[in-house]
Amino acid sequence: MKTIEPRHGVGFILKKGEKLKVVDPQGEQVSDFFCLMQDSPDEYLSSGRTIDYLSKIYMEKGDTLYSSKSRAMCKIVEDTCGRHDFLLTPCSKDTFRIIYGDKDPHQGCEGNLIEAFSSLGVELGCLPTTLNLFMNVQMREDGKIDVRPPKSQAGDYVVIEALEDLLVGLTACSALDSNNGSFKPIDYEII
Ligand SMILES: [Zn+2]
Repeated sequence: MKTIEPRHGVGFILKKGEKLKVVDPQGEQVSDFFCLMQDSPDEYLSSGRTIDYLSKIYMEKGDTLYSSKSRAMCKIVEDTCGRHDFLLTPCSKDTFRIIYGDKDPHQGCEGNLIEAFSSLGVELGCLPTTLNLFMNVQMREDGKIDVRPPKSQAGDYVVIEALEDLLVGLTACSALDSNNGSFKPIDYEII
C-alpha cells in the first residue's frame, strides 16, 4: 500500500485486468480519480457519458465508467462507502480564488492531476469532471447542491478494475469543504 500525502497527487499506469484499491485511511477524505486511454490519451473518463448511459448520478459497485468516445474504461467492483460524486470539477487555483477567496491559492486536485499526467508524458491543459471518490454531494429538489462531509469512515475503500490499459491520476483532495475541514492522506495499491 502506498500513501498520497495531504493535498498531493500521483500518476501511474493501470493495465487491463488490474485493480486499483483506493483507501480513505482516516475517514472523511476525498480522492479525485481520473484516467485516460493509454493507446489514445485524448480519450478521457467522461462523467457526462457515464451519467447518460447509467441514467444516474451516484456511482456504486457494479457500475461501468465510460470514456469520452463511449468505450468502457473501468468498473467499480468493490465499494464500502457507497457515496461518491461525478458532477463537480476537481478543485483548482480558481476554485480557491472564487469560492474561498484565497489570495495565494493552492493548485488543488486540478494542478496535482496535471502534474501527475505530465509525469506519464501527457500534457493536459485543464481537466473535465473527475470521479470524486468519497465526496458527498447532495442534490436538493430545487436543483441546488450541497457539499457535505464525506460518509467514508477510516478504512473505507473502493476497488476499480481497468477494462483497458489506462493512465491514471489520483489525489488526496485539497478542498476544505469537501473534506469536512481538514486535509488527510489517501492510500492506494494496484492489485
Ligand atoms: Zn480536490
